[in-house]
Amino acid sequence: MQRVEPAPQDFDRVLSSMCTEPHPMARQAAERFLATNPGDPATYQEVADLEREAVEMLGTVTGLPDPAGYVTSGGTEANIQAVRIARNRADTDDPNVVVPTHGHFSFWKAADVLGVELRTAPPSDYRADPDVMAELVDADTVLVAGVAGTTEYGYVDPIPELAEVAHSVDALFHVDAAWGGFYLPFSDHRWHFGHAAVDTMTIDPHKVGQAAVPAGGLLARSPELLDELAIDTPYLESTKQVTLTGTRSGAGVASAVAAMEALWPEGYREQYHRSMDNAEWLAAELRERGYDVVEPELPLVAADVSVALVEELRERGWRVAKTEAGELRVVCMPHVTRSMLRSFVADLDWY
Ligand code: PLP
Repeated sequence: MQRVEPAPQDFDRVLSSMCTEPHPMARQAAERFLATNPGDPATYQEVADLEREAVEMLGTVTGLPDPAGYVTSGGTEANIQAVRIARNRADTDDPNVVVPTHGHFSFWKAADVLGVELRTAPPSDYRADPDVMAELVDADTVLVAGVAGTTEYGYVDPIPELAEVAHSVDALFHVDAAWGGFYLPFSDHRWHFGHAAVDTMTIDPHKVGQAAVPAGGLLARSPELLDELAIDTPYLESTKQVTLTGTRSGAGVASAVAAMEALWPEGYREQYHRSMDNAEWLAAELRERGYDVVEPELPLVAADVSVALVEELRERGWRVAKTEAGELRVVCMPHVTRSMLRSFVADLDWY
């Protein structure tokens, strides 16, 4: 029987995804490490070494010397684990976590599985409002989270101010930079782990980092924080495990290292500028056509294109998403080129 090769994902019309085509070196590395399991580091030592390298490099990207952490299945796992670290570390029977309402839905999953109360603060002008967040914290707050590159608008919360809110009640401070993390070093947001007093951070190589899926990242300021997750593993050669899942993807780990080796820092810098230029170009084109556009802060454009028109564009093969408020949302990932955006705008004009 003839084997049918599945068609590879075609990114030609994908404007909705926060993942992208992996860098060629990342793709190759993923293939080479397909049959490895970093969840069993004593057996799969080579990929375990690569994971240490991945964490080291993520520390470099985020300005954290001697980082602790691991390569997660994605931003969801990293956010759940950050909440778990904070819950386990704290001395309260009634823990709560404070996040802005635009926090990724993984925080809702975290609250559900970990049995913590989630308190949500409405933003002002698309960013978390530290005063509103401050009203929600109390002695039982174990974690305050900010987002650096929100899922819907790509906006960056006031990170240093939110860190102060967290530490005023001795809570941990987590930054979800799952998507924005590889853009921030080249943007106007020059804060990093060090000066913003961040305790834990999510930064995903499989998004802007251009690694193959699955490769998320959880970083912690110290090994003691990561140890809050440790569970004994009696039948493995290693004695404890901090990860949420057991068997994990060596392909993701190896591809994360390969992508970062190939792209840090110049490749990512160029990508940031190319994507930002594209986002600004698209925003201007949409504005010229009379749409209300949310000024892009990172390479993500939201505009009040009607829901009916978004549906028409989807019919024409464009993979576009809407915000909760119903706006068209275009994520200018590395695979999104200017010519792709030109033909998107031409299709918009057609209707
Ligand atoms: N955090 C943010 C800010 C995100 O935008 C996303 C996904 O888009 C996540 C977390 C979840 O990441 P994943 O889908 O890799 O679990």
